[in-house]
This record gives sequence, structure tokens and C-alpha cells, in this order.
Amino acid sequence: MRIPAEIIAAATRDLADLVAIPSVSARAEGLEACADKVEALLSEAGFITEQQPGDVGPFVVGEMGAGPFTLVIYNHYDVQPEDPVHLWTDAPFALTERSGRLYGRGSADDKGEFVSRLAGWRVFRDTHPGPLPFKLIWIVEGEEEIGSPSLVRFLEKRFLDTQADLCWWEFGEVDRTGRPIVLMGFKGILAVELECRTARADLHSSLGAIFDNPLWRLAAAVSSLRDARGRILIEGFYDDIVEPDALSRELAERAPFPLGDLQEETGGRRLLEGVNAETFYDHLNFEPCLNVNGFHGGYGGEGAKTVLPCTGTAKLDFRLVPGQHPVRIAALLRRHLDAKGFEDVSLKILDAEVLGVRSDPSHFAVDLGAELLRKWFGRPAIIQPSSAASGLAYPFMHKFGATLFGAGLTHHGAMLHSPDENILVSHFENMIGFSADFFAALGEHVRQPAEAGSYA
Ligand SMILES: [Zn+2]
Repeated sequence: MRIPAEIIAAATRDLADLVAIPSVSARAEGLEACADKVEALLSEAGFITEQQPGDVGPFVVGEMGAGPFTLVIYNHYDVQPEDPVHLWTDAPFALTERSGRLYGRGSADDKGEFVSRLAGWRVFRDTHPGPLPFKLIWIVEGEEEIGSPSLVRFLEKRFLDTQADLCWWEFGEVDRTGRPIVLMGFKGILAVELECRTARADLHSSLGAIFDNPLWRLAAAVSSLRDARGRILIEGFYDDIVEPDALSRELAERAPFPLGDLQEETGGRRLLEGVNAETFYDHLNFEPCLNVNGFHGGYGGEGAKTVLPCTGTAKLDFRLVPGQHPVRIAALLRRHLDAKGFEDVSLKILDAEVLGVRSDPSHFAVDLGAELLRKWFGRPAIIQPSSAASGLAYPFMHKFGATLFGAGLTHHGAMLHSPDENILVSHFENMIGFSADFFAALGEHVRQPAEAGSYA
């Protein structure tokens, strides 16, 4: 299966044009210019387009067709800062081809994902002119890399009554052995800071004979939150969890890679009690966890300093699963600290915006997409019930009622957010082909609902 060379050349040019615009949301730089370019590309491809203001960068929307089936595609045109620049082999904002790869900031995250889908769209429309049998809403934002501060407000305002069936997520991955992944969910997140202050200023450590120490207090408070198995000991923590459906469980039963691979890759040695080769993938997909991100206070310099510090802080993050609301978990955490005698430990919420989601893998588009991924990437697709990481997918899932579908071209060595970010040319081409086929297959499926299932 080949994509015509002129299609690939045009897509590569589009990607080069986008990469050349340093749309760094962290510096609020280049966002209008990049939004204009994205809008022009969508408009040239036949979409009715518009821009809507965001807090930092505008949203671009392209729409076409009519329901009853509605597909939402979500992408973003902003990128991470290029620093440290000296570690790039070539200039970060110039798309450069070297040994089968295209390098440049945003080549993968997320301009390459956007462009490959759009190129596939053009192929699909060239071969399937006429009225579109479904509605397509393409949303491209410019604030993803700074946490999408206005996304929820934008969706609620602009798409007040919109319902959708499927949301094609902004990225997707191909694993290190070349197997494409269909991602069905994300974990939520609660990030907090605990602080304890026990005196006006640091004291002589001899006074430790009578005064308590804020780092001892924090250590005890943090220790009370979790056991050696990783089980979180906050009362009510597990109450609202939505259990995975049977198919999700089944999909997670056989891990697509051995635990040893992950240990080798990360150098991670010490497993939580109860985590083993059979259970680790289940934990990654379905179990919430609590991390201590940092523990700060007192003297950390060279040699000894006999000090009784007056204050200390601990930063924590909880990876949450569907059903757990971060704000409610924060309230339970406060109650736990008070009940355990840690009223003097203050709690500051740093992030409670992202809720976990997990979509139903029995949606027809999942099998259909997986089959087309197999066709283009030459390997059976892995359907992954949930990422172990968090993504701001819940506004789409809850607002639109859509099924999440994450498929894309990001490969194992893509160096996202790092110097030498890149994509494989072969994946870029495969994703163009996949996208063209996926649009066509969705159209066929919704045009002939009586034959549902015959495309798997
Ligand atoms: Zn990113």
C-alpha cells in the first residue's frame, strides 16, 4: 500500500511550514501566526473555519458535514519551548530530514499528528467527493502545553448543545516494536503541597529536645497516606471508583510487553509489594497511585548543620481513575490529616483540573480503527484501556458524550518535549494512509448502519 508521492510531499511541506512557526505557548509566542496557518489549511481542505479567543492562544475550529454521527478531532498547534537549544542537532524550528526521520519542535507533538490526519483527509475527499455522511468538528487549540487553561470554558460556550460519538485524541503512539496503539482512556490527577511550620525561624537543634520538628511531622503525615503495596489509606479514597468493564479488563489481562522491558528501560528496581509480571499492567491501567514528588526543608548543603528547621514542604501527586474527583479527594485528604492529628499540616491544591476517563472499547470505531492500523503499520494494534498518565480528555468525553480514540504516529524515540523531537517518515506516511481509510470506513459504516460490524 503506497501513498502517492505528491501527497506526501505536500504534507511534508505543510509540516515544515508549521514547524517553522515557533508557537511556544509558555512564552505566548507565535500563536496567532500558527493559528492563522492552521485555519488556512483547514479552510483549503474545505472546512468552514473560525477562530475563538483563548486566554493565551486562539482556538481554531473547522466544521463540515451533518450528523447523525459526529466525529470530533482534537489537536493542538502550540509546542514546548525548544530549550536547551544547544542539544539540538539542527535548528529546532526548521523541519530537517535525516536517516528516515523528520526532526523539529512539534514534528510529533502535535503538528505532525495534525498534518498527517489532514493529508489523509485530502486523500479521502479526493476519492469520496460529494456530501459527507457524518459531521466532523476539528478543534485545534494553542494552549495544550500550558495545561489548556481555557479549553473547558471554550467547549462549554462554543459547543453548548453539541453531542459527538467519537473523539480522535490529539496523539497516538506506536510502541518500540512497531505496534500501533489505540488508547481508550487517561488517569486524572490531583497535585498538592503539604506544609508544616513549627517555629518563627530555624532554631538550634539542641531545642529538638523539647520542640517538634516540621520534617518529622511531614514524614509522619506522608507515611500515614499509603502502605507498602501502594494502597492509599485515606478513608473513602476508593469509594467512587468506576470499575473497568469486562472487555477493558480482558484487554489488560495480557500485557503487550513484559515488565522486564520497562525495568530495563527505566532502570526501575524496587517494585511495590504485590506488583509482579502478572499484575503490573493492570496497575498501570486501572489503579490509582500516590507519589511524593519532592520533600523539602532544612539543611541539604555540604557537611553537617545542627539546625532545627522551622518549616518544610512535601509535594504529592495522586494519579486518579474514573469516578474519583480530584476536588473530593483533596477534601478527603484534609479530613485524613485532621483525623490523624496533623491539623498543623497545611494543604494547598496545585492541580485538581484533570479527571480520569475510560471509554468503552466495544465501540465499533475501535475495531475498525485497529484493523486499519494493522493494515498500514503491518502489525496488530494494541487496544490499551487507559494510559498510566493523565490527559485532559474528560471535557470531550463528558461534554460531548464521545468515545475516546487515541491513535497516531508518535514513536518510542520521538523525544517529545526534548531536543531532537522527531517522527519516522514511514509512520508519517502510514498515518496519512490510515487517516484516509479511517474517514472512508467511518463514512461507510454510518451510511449503512444495517451492516454494522461487517468492517471489522
Ligand atoms: Zn506535548
